[in-house]
Amino acid sequence: MSARLNLLGLTRTELEALCADMGSKPFRARQLMNWLYKRGVSDFAAMSDLAKDFRAQLAERAEVRLPEIVTTQRSTDGTCKWLLRADASQAFEMVYIPENDRGTLCISSQVGCVLDCAFCSTAQQGFNRNLTTAEIVGQVWLANRELGFSPDAPRIITNVVLMGMGEPLANFRNVVPALQILLDDLCFDLSRRRVTLSTSGLVPQIYKLAEVSNVALAVSLHAPDDELRNRLVPINRIHPIAELLEACWHYIDEQNGRSVTFEYVMLDGVNDSPAQARALARLLRGRPGKVNLIPFNPYPGTPFRRSSDAAVERFRDELLRGGVMTTTRRTRGDDIDAACGQLVGRVQDRTVVRLGSKSIPVQVQA
Ligand code: SAH
Repeated sequence: MSARLNLLGLTRTELEALCADMGSKPFRARQLMNWLYKRGVSDFAAMSDLAKDFRAQLAERAEVRLPEIVTTQRSTDGTCKWLLRADASQAFEMVYIPENDRGTLCISSQVGCVLDCAFCSTAQQGFNRNLTTAEIVGQVWLANRELGFSPDAPRIITNVVLMGMGEPLANFRNVVPALQILLDDLCFDLSRRRVTLSTSGLVPQIYKLAEVSNVALAVSLHAPDDELRNRLVPINRIHPIAELLEACWHYIDEQNGRSVTFEYVMLDGVNDSPAQARALARLLRGRPGKVNLIPFNPYPGTPFRRSSDAAVERFRDELLRGGVMTTTRRTRGDDIDAACGQLVGRVQDRTVVRLGSKSIPVQVQA
């Protein structure tokens, strides 16, 4: 690994400190950010309005190091998925989903995941490691480049969702500065309503997040009662639904936010009955929460099946009748395994070691 500092992981304050350390004025940091984020230039030599000796110093101490692309797959619906290599033994994925009025990039926060949700394919691979701030931010930078970003053209990526591999709140230390960089008007300049962090429900970290960030919050609920949620989302055994919802309402209060989005994956015969919809409506009625129903995306070996369209509609109608705003997520990119819950960092050859019940991929060869 290179010993040089990766500029992509640095917040504005840290970049200013770096410039000061190199004997430069704070406005140098602004110029640097302008090149890096507004113009998408990573080569110091091309940053023509920076003094030559400053560029030379930069090149000595720092670099712009991006995750390496292992494979690119395009879906027939325009969705694009990249398998990325962080270093010799780690792979993770990001997905771009174009729609009429926006372009959403779904990024990863960890390689693998420790949470073991019953219906998620990422859980099958176990936990490998946290992504660094630079690797999280680097996904957005790289996707912009791959998608043909140009400073004068309209944005290609209008929304970023932390809904790829991993549990973002379990990587709090690296995710929070990444959020700052996504929102900073000198960097990616995304509106806080267009950056969404999705969590399976790490309650203490939701309170902590409320102190340091104001991005949109999505919570993977998936069940209206603790008995079922304990089975689907095991973290519920530690932080049950009532506690989780309190944390959500606190977040909205603190952030002056609009509402929390509750993700609910529709599993045939498991959590999709009208009675369960009514129970869910009772939990959320009159609260700043809306529900996003996600058709289950199957993967090899899963015991679950996708709910029928009719069941999804019935469930949605019950929620609407119960006074809860509800939308249904359209499945995108499932022909390339890019849909929700299908991200596993699949590679051509992977050596796996077993640690307890978890499979840990230790080697990636393209
Ligand atoms: N760990 C975070 C973010 C990653 S998952 C979280 O749990 O929220 C992003 C969303 O996809 C979550 O709502 C997750 O529950 C959902 N998901 C996981 N597996 C899925 C599958 N097989 N089909 C559909 N959605 C799935």
